[in-house]
Amino acid sequence: MITVENLHKHFGGFHAVDGASLSVREGSITGLIGPNGAGKTTLFNVIAGVLPPTSGRVTMQGEDITGLPPHALFHKGLLRTFQIAHEFASMTCRENLMMVPGGQSGETLWNTWFGRKRIAEEERALRAKADEVLEFLTITHLADQRAGEISGGQKKLLELGRTMMVDARIVFLDEVGAGVNRTLLNTIAEAILNLNRERGYTFVVIEHDMDFIGRICDPVICMAEGRVLAEGTLDEIKANEQVIEAYLGT
Ligand code: ADP
Repeated sequence: MITVENLHKHFGGFHAVDGASLSVREGSITGLIGPNGAGKTTLFNVIAGVLPPTSGRVTMQGEDITGLPPHALFHKGLLRTFQIAHEFASMTCRENLMMVPGGQSGETLWNTWFGRKRIAEEERALRAKADEVLEFLTITHLADQRAGEISGGQKKLLELGRTMMVDARIVFLDEVGAGVNRTLLNTIAEAILNLNRERGYTFVVIEHDMDFIGRICDPVICMAEGRVLAEGTLDEIKANEQVIEAYLGT
């Protein structure tokens, strides 16, 4: 689904991504691990159009998407969530979900005067969809709560929920498990597995929690110093000498 070829991202003289090449199989939940500073987040940012690459190529199902901006990738079904959730704090959880699809009739001045009926219908449909998503994620009770007031783990669930408001095809998750308690982490794992099985989402997941990775990811790709060191099942990766060395060296 995604192919990254010899990707470089330099910050001045520093090579955060230094010739990374990898592929993500359609329908997989691919784990991306590696010591701190390995270049995982930078790689995500380049693939997701947040940062331009210094050189290299990214393709999505054969189409060159290198350097496309996030909104163009969003329309192709490529979404990225952030390690720190980017919720709209003063809006409710339901409203945070309802605003994801964009291009709504109520956004144009003309329609707010003349298209009231259409706006109301759209809003009803969006509200119903948002409520379905909240239910799927077992956070219906948070629907009317301000997003800025929910816990860190619940924000991660809400971010996952935002990807469900549109027809995502591939979702890049950056440390969904960071700072999340076990119960919520299980809910997040279940939600990812369900989205993968039932809606065919492909996932690429950066995560430090190896239990979480082992439970949901196959294959696992390990990066260090801006490059891919190894790919395989988590057990294979854990037994790989280069991987062990990379972790011990930090
Ligand atoms: P990881 O996600 O694997 O921990 P990162 O991609 O966050 O690694 O970072 C890789 C390296 O690139 C780190 O040494 C980090 O300090 C550096 N880096 C990341 N973003 C920038 C930036 N905007 N400017 C300079 N250096 C950066």
